[in-house]
Amino acid sequence: MGLRKRSNRRRCAFYAGDLSDAYVTMTTTCPTCSDEYDKLGNHFQWRPDHRPELSDRQHGIIDYLILRGATVRDENAKSRLEVYSTSEAWITDVSDTLGWVAGDPWVQQSASDVADRSSRRYNVDVAVDDCSDLWAFTTVPHPSLDYGGPTDVEELRPLTLRLLVSTVGEWVGLLFGSLHLDVRGWDVSGDHLRGLLSKRGVPTAEHNGDGYAEDSPTCRYHYDDDVVVVPHYDALELLDSVGLSLSDVAEPITFQN
Ligand SMILES: [Zn+2]
Repeated sequence: MGLRKRSNRRRCAFYAGDLSDAYVTMTTTCPTCSDEYDKLGNHFQWRPDHRPELSDRQHGIIDYLILRGATVRDENAKSRLEVYSTSEAWITDVSDTLGWVAGDPWVQQSASDVADRSSRRYNVDVAVDDCSDLWAFTTVPHPSLDYGGPTDVEELRPLTLRLLVSTVGEWVGLLFGSLHLDVRGWDVSGDHLRGLLSKRGVPTAEHNGDGYAEDSPTCRYHYDDDVVVVPHYDALELLDSVGLSLSDVAEPITFQN
């Protein structure tokens, strides 16, 4: 996924309002008894023995959503997540992959509502064409979703790292370049992400005290603290360890410009 898509996604402000009034009914199949329920969370309330633990795969995706910026709601001592995106394809993919723990996505705000709201908030004329529908889904309440924020993600699972790199990873500097993980606009800070990578043995560029990191042909600095830079050879190892290749994070090299 290249920079172009990301900047499109950021053209409009994200709606950060309260979803509780708009709680949408969803029909989900209980993974234990295979019956269908409008609100699986209510069923689990009555039959806690039907509520499975989250799988490693579900945990990996949820950690990624927390780093990215999901809202955690406490309900009846159990938490659920609210997830927003302007990409229908992305949100459908994520909720499908999460399985029983996620409800179906819906349009939380239409593109024209987003344009109106942004125009009012920033007192500028925001065109509908520059906005996208805002999609959302919520998960069922579950005790394993009790996150206080991105710092509660204390280690990077391989799947979380793979999703993170494939979403925000960008190869900068052609053949001898380095990997930039741009988490500006995410909930996780660059500092916390550097710590998480360090725990996995992945070094990142160090700042020299003047606000600049090391700058060399294999490690291109970035002025923003929330852009984490993994030097060339470590970046190649990192990509390999999560099953990605250079072409997943780099624009194809062409000589037409
Ligand atoms: Zn059941």
